[in-house]
Amino acid sequence: MTRNLPAVDGDRFWNTILASAEIGAGPHGGLARLTLSEADGQMRDLFRSWAEGAGYGVTVDRLGNTFVRRPGTDDTLPPVLVGSHLDTQAAGGRFDGILGVMAGLEILRALDDAGIRTRRAIEVVNWTNEEGGRFPPPMLCSGVFAGLHDLDWALSRPDQAGVTVAEALDAIGWAGDAPVGGREIDSYFEIHIEQGPQLWEAGIPLGIVTAPYLARGMRIEVTGENAHSGPTPMARRRNALVGAAAVALMVDRVGHDYADREGKSTVARIEASPNIPGIISDRATLFVDFRSPDPRLTAEMEERIRAALPGCGAETNTEVAVADAWTFGETAFDPELIELVRSTAGDLGVPYREMMSQAGHDAYHIARIAPAVLLFTPCDEGISHNEAENTRLEDQLPGLQVLFGAVLARADR
Ligand SMILES: [Zn+2]
Repeated sequence: MTRNLPAVDGDRFWNTILASAEIGAGPHGGLARLTLSEADGQMRDLFRSWAEGAGYGVTVDRLGNTFVRRPGTDDTLPPVLVGSHLDTQAAGGRFDGILGVMAGLEILRALDDAGIRTRRAIEVVNWTNEEGGRFPPPMLCSGVFAGLHDLDWALSRPDQAGVTVAEALDAIGWAGDAPVGGREIDSYFEIHIEQGPQLWEAGIPLGIVTAPYLARGMRIEVTGENAHSGPTPMARRRNALVGAAAVALMVDRVGHDYADREGKSTVARIEASPNIPGIISDRATLFVDFRSPDPRLTAEMEERIRAALPGCGAETNTEVAVADAWTFGETAFDPELIELVRSTAGDLGVPYREMMSQAGHDAYHIARIAPAVLLFTPCDEGISHNEAENTRLEDQLPGLQVLFGAVLARADR
């Protein structure tokens, strides 16, 4: 490490998380702060007021991605980015994503307290729509930043009510004017709760992610025909809802078939139209995803699923087609940054475990354009995407200190 590491202010850090937990609170103690909702707007306003109150520059791009910048001594150098997301699932926890943004803010404040100026600027980033719960796919806006998705495509993504990302940004006043991406960044650090039980069960405070699971997501459209549920003979029915059910069972079966090799598949949502008793559905949409630790296995699962789709249609007298597909976890994390985090943890005496990441994160996309690294911290019983998600400051401080040390070393490079 290049310098003695100053202390973070644990209470100040935790208070930002507690303040966030008040905005968009869910009925069961968690958060229901869907991306670009009114509550998300309030959280963004608070985050910006903290940043401006501390004298940092705030830049908002056209997708609402927000960058809080503490200048370096040489601002011609690309900055070090630290961040995650402030949006949550409809029944989400208080820490998923929020931890990583607040950790970045605390690092900037701790540097101020210690009177340290780093060589490179450090920017704390809040990525818009990491969850994808309102506007699929997930990690939409870090994906545009990384050149994976087109900006106009992202702006036109609709929610279930037909409101687009562009309209939702305008409604909460968070459509910025900075271009999305297209600038050089030195590196990207993200700290996130594990969302699984490995660290919690082992009593280890830090996970260093060496590689992501390769995940594929799909939007599948099933087409049938409206008809009366009474007189229409069974043989003439083209029920899109039934076609979607056949697809759902098939996708789930593929996950079970690969479970012994850590393959997983999920059918997360079915929308049927008109979804009214008495009418046979003419249309159904499914959102599915599948993943595994081995890219070849994920490819095999995809082949199985795609090959089985026409059969699901034939069996139910419907047409089944993949309307959209996306990938995350194609790019490995940066060996040099992983080594930096390892050695920082060693210097600070923080025990860690090396592991793969099974959930998608913005770091997956940013890894395509800059060296990136992902750190995990424990959460109770691995519960996440659930209002019961929980942890304590003492379980998060070791990871925060390692992140701080690694970011500081990188920013002085
Ligand atoms: Zn998250």
